[in-house]
Amino acid sequence: MKFKLFIFLICLAHLSFAQNFNDVKRYKVNFAIATGLNQKLIATRSFTANNQKYLLLVNPETLDTKVDLANNYSTSSLQFQNVLAIFKNTAYVKSIEAAAAKDLQLQNAGIDHAIPNEKGITLTIDLCPSHKALDRVIFQSVFDEFKKIEQPAPLAISVSGKWMLKHQDDLNWLKSLVEKKELNITWVNHTYNHEVNKLPLAENFLLAPGTNLDVEVLENEKLMLKNGLTPSVFFRFPGLVSDKSIVEKIEAYGLIPIGSDAWLAKGQQPNAGSIVLIHGNGNEEIGVKDFIQLLKTKQADVKNKQWLLFDLRAGLEKEFE
Ligand SMILES: [Zn+2]
Repeated sequence: MKFKLFIFLICLAHLSFAQNFNDVKRYKVNFAIATGLNQKLIATRSFTANNQKYLLLVNPETLDTKVDLANNYSTSSLQFQNVLAIFKNTAYVKSIEAAAAKDLQLQNAGIDHAIPNEKGITLTIDLCPSHKALDRVIFQSVFDEFKKIEQPAPLAISVSGKWMLKHQDDLNWLKSLVEKKELNITWVNHTYNHEVNKLPLAENFLLAPGTNLDVEVLENEKLMLKNGLTPSVFFRFPGLVSDKSIVEKIEAYGLIPIGSDAWLAKGQQPNAGSIVLIHGNGNEEIGVKDFIQLLKTKQADVKNKQWLLFDLRAGLEKEFE
């Protein structure tokens, strides 16, 4: 009997862990207070799959997200403006507001620095569309350096739809690192198409004429769910390019834009608490090299726990608690 219960619990843990939603339908932005299982969460999306209704939920204190059956919760619908008002003292809304406060520049809007004066960085790795293989050396190096210090080591991956479609093996390899508890990955929406053209920044990336934001944001989330990835509350602008109006639109999806104050390939040096950006899609050799070099120079500090990797969610929770 006990054994059966044990097996059941293992199956249950696996279900909530990595469920692949193959036939997501009626995927909608749908804000609601969701109360249930002793928690008060914010639902940001609703959808059906296998004839059941699901919610994508965010914990406004910890910024953690999860997908759960809708009938585990009682919900009351909200406009996004009401979410901002009702939850104004939470890390979630404070993060949204901090990101909006920096929306005037064409590049690097959003939160670009996670925890002031902490010993370490938050690592973000962008997977823009690419014909080249994943730079697995980044992930292997992080694991090797941090395995006795922080396991699983936290990092964030900004994933584009077109990358996921072309790199199933690499994606499965990343998921296997999570399953083995080697890495703890926060999955960040990096748009479905990640369009890039030859026009000036003001008409490039998401600012390109004809961009359909619902496709870029929601279709990418659906593809993440199909691949067993839980979308986080974070969003990274392709090219880090945005303007005030598009930042507002992205935030109205309930997403927090994440910039970077240390794009290594551009020669920006990380400070304490930096959000570091490298590309892991095979197209940024120099950024990867710089990062491996950075790990080498910090080896002693890592061993002495004087240089850590921070989880994006925990970092913002701490900054805005
Ligand atoms: Zn990108």
